[in-house]
Amino acid sequence: MNRSKPWLILFVACMLILASCNQQQGQQGEESRQKRQETQQQQDDQKNQTEQRNQKRTPDLAGGKEKEVREPHPLSLADLRQKYPSTFVLNGPSNKRQVALTFDDGPDLEYTPQILDVLKQYNVKATFFVVGNRAEAHPEIVRRMHREGHEIANHTYSHPHLIKVDDVTFQREVRQTDGILRPLIGYSPKLFRPPYGDVTEDQIKWLSSQNYTIVNWNVDSLDWKGLSQDQVSVNVLSHVFPGSIILQHSAGGKGEDLSGTVKALPEIIQKLRADGVQFVTTSELLNLPRSR
Ligand SMILES: [Zn+2]
Repeated sequence: MNRSKPWLILFVACMLILASCNQQQGQQGEESRQKRQETQQQQDDQKNQTEQRNQKRTPDLAGGKEKEVREPHPLSLADLRQKYPSTFVLNGPSNKRQVALTFDDGPDLEYTPQILDVLKQYNVKATFFVVGNRAEAHPEIVRRMHREGHEIANHTYSHPHLIKVDDVTFQREVRQTDGILRPLIGYSPKLFRPPYGDVTEDQIKWLSSQNYTIVNWNVDSLDWKGLSQDQVSVNVLSHVFPGSIILQHSAGGKGEDLSGTVKALPEIIQKLRADGVQFVTTSELLNLPRSR
């Protein structure tokens, strides 16, 4: 009994000290929580005051926040033509009685030679927007186009829908075609027509930086629909005016029939000539050198 008493006293004393420590710690924890809350409150108040001051001094943007309004809205082709009038053209000046016949998607071995024959027969110089891989396949037809005084222009290498390809692919399509045409005709064509007439603003900017002029058309023969001679003729003759750039095709996709466009050509040439219209290449119509 006597021996255990000091231990008991010691034990009780320890318990008392521990209890007191816990109480102190609890108090300290409560204090620091309160402090944190107060600091947070002060920070929130300051932020609110700054925002209020800012709103008083800086009027809000009437049209809404930039990030809400400036979503990417791609410009339409009409907007792009307006924005880049000297780089992206549809027709030439209307003060001279001149038009440009343009033929896309060649060369091939079926329709392109027939069109060249008609042009030769009537001594008409036209512009051929050729596809690079077809020029690669039929270089002799490209040489003939050039030899017979026609203008050759770039219509990409594989005829992709350009708005769906990345920058690297797009630039390769243009450069690769240039690399095929230059040795065949002796110059780098600086007229470019995007397949399907579709092009993005970034592509226009790049083409412009490389001295290309993008040439679409303002008279569409719609010959690619396999139209008859009469339909092709009417589509061209009823829409043409001085300065027009006329779209026809000298080759199509597999199985496409372009005989209507070949047969319509003599009538188109004869009727416009009778009307005092002169046929020129696209560069001549636009007063541009063929190679820049
Ligand atoms: Zn095309």
